[in-house]
Amino acid sequence: MIVVLRRNSPLSKREELILRLKALGITTHISQGEQNTVIGLVGDTSKVDPDDLMALPYVEKVQRVSEPFKLANRQFHTADTIVDISGVKIGGGSFTVIAGPCSVETEEQIVYTAKRVKAAGGKLLRGGAFKPRTSPYAFRGLKNEGIKLLEIAKKETGLPIVTELMSVEHLEFFDNVDVIQIGARNMQNFEMLTEIGKQKKPVLLKRGLANTIEEWLMSAEYIMASGNENVILCERGVRTFETALRNTYDLACIPFMQSLTHLPIIADPSHASGKSSLIPALSKATVAVGASGIMIEVHPTPEKALCDGAQSIDCDTFDRVMTDIKKYAEIEGKTV
Ligand code: PEP
Ligand code: MN
Repeated sequence: MIVVLRRNSPLSKREELILRLKALGITTHISQGEQNTVIGLVGDTSKVDPDDLMALPYVEKVQRVSEPFKLANRQFHTADTIVDISGVKIGGGSFTVIAGPCSVETEEQIVYTAKRVKAAGGKLLRGGAFKPRTSPYAFRGLKNEGIKLLEIAKKETGLPIVTELMSVEHLEFFDNVDVIQIGARNMQNFEMLTEIGKQKKPVLLKRGLANTIEEWLMSAEYIMASGNENVILCERGVRTFETALRNTYDLACIPFMQSLTHLPIIADPSHASGKSSLIPALSKATVAVGASGIMIEVHPTPEKALCDGAQSIDCDTFDRVMTDIKKYAEIEGKTV
């Protein structure tokens, strides 16, 4: 980080700032120009808030030269992180498919879907039990009963299960859940991120509806900073001026993020587009762009789904999507 002082700022103020930074463990390098004084900060600047420095009347400019995230940063951890979920790996040379309904509805629905997902080559079963819904009058999931139904589907198929956590108070129901999903709406629920960082289960951290890449990585940093390094990132579309589709699928962020972080990144074309007819094309694009996996909403009868039917594909379509994914993954040199 570099701090430029205003012209003619008193020497005493400069000394005050140096002492303040020293207290944070930062050493400083002074470069005295003809017009301005430039202070270079050396050390772990993650504790230094540039806005705090900008608030000082004698500071003209503050510029970061390194990212504020450390544990998630590829600079300090060059190898890809591979998250192991009961033997299923996300990251490295694999392309992992997570599929299942938006919400768990009945035992028959989730067990049937799980069997079809497994038969087609999916490696993890998704299904919402605690559902974030815009309307309080909409179906908000079967809650802990839904998790029990996911456990039945897991027993029948052997597929590890992924489901969303909406409150840390519900963690007691998550003992047999393999991956904790943090949804878009909770991406910046910092207390929750800190709490789930204290346990070791892998976390699927979705990107917030309107969050920047840096904010998203800082949320991953929260989980890692409290002790859990098993974080998988999931792009799920962001809000833009475009309203024709549910969201705008930010596929460009995937290879870009891979340069910034060692954490695996997957993507969810279902929430990104909101439209089932687009899933076959977007799935191929997701593999082609280099993602480590994909999460797709699949329902035996999408027209009857209690949540997100318009973006859910049926099981036969999923079979065809998997055939394409396998071909595209081969080109990428990845195994599905
Ligand atoms: C979901 O996966 O069902 C979901 C609610 O996703 P998001 O948090 O991305 O909206
Ligand atoms: Mn959904």
